[in-house]
Amino acid sequence: MRIARFTTGEDPQFGVVTGDLDEHGELDPDASIVALAGDPLYVGMKPTDQSFRLADVRLLAPVLPRSKVVGIGRNYAAHAAEMGSDLPEEPLMFLKPNTSVVGPGDPVFYPRQSRNVHFEGELAVVVGRICRDVPVEKVADVVFGYTVGNDVTARDLQRSDVQFTRAKGFDSFCPLGPWVETDLDASDLRVRTFLNGDLKQDGTTKDLIFDVPTLVSYVSSVMTLLPGDVILTGTPEGVGPMEVGDEVDVVIDGIGTLNNKVVSRD
Ligand code: MG
Repeated sequence: MRIARFTTGEDPQFGVVTGDLDEHGELDPDASIVALAGDPLYVGMKPTDQSFRLADVRLLAPVLPRSKVVGIGRNYAAHAAEMGSDLPEEPLMFLKPNTSVVGPGDPVFYPRQSRNVHFEGELAVVVGRICRDVPVEKVADVVFGYTVGNDVTARDLQRSDVQFTRAKGFDSFCPLGPWVETDLDASDLRVRTFLNGDLKQDGTTKDLIFDVPTLVSYVSSVMTLLPGDVILTGTPEGVGPMEVGDEVDVVIDGIGTLNNKVVSRD
């Protein structure tokens, strides 16, 4: 099931999106969205009798992380190699503030402090319930679903600061969407990133060094996870710079396409 958050100009609502995806991860134009009563993370799935054409609504970030977005660094061997980094022996965690989250179609603002802002297309795990110390074999019970993420990174600041907080924490540096897919086997999903239509990243979650159950279990052994928290699983090789005016599409098979444009801060 695809759970989206959307607005028709009024207060945001959650809804269930229907329709088939084409090979570009786009929905057919007749897709519709059935509004839900309240946030399904808190009140469960309660469909209303309100329905809209998807083309007539604006999609928003499908989840608002209650407390945090946890990023995972160097989780694909080929990406670690392109960064000149060794492979981590344990998952390498960092945090992005929830204020960095934006939705599909929202602008990514190019910060004045950076001269080298990169895209990082990634599978994003959405946590469904409060949990800690989750055993690997119980992780499926705490995962609400999956969405597409772009772990936007000011590469120059990441190198100069050493700590990742500024480089990955700017407002708009965590696009998520277009919706959360709740029925998905995440063990072998193709992850592609296109910059102005050119294919830049083409990986599969089969190549994750630490897979989704391992990551969720590991993160939950460090910090309590809350409903709506997000774990970004790492990016495949092929990261590169974005400039003002560029358009980025991250496509994950079985989920859909996340599209954002880079816009000047000024
Ligand atoms: Mg990343």
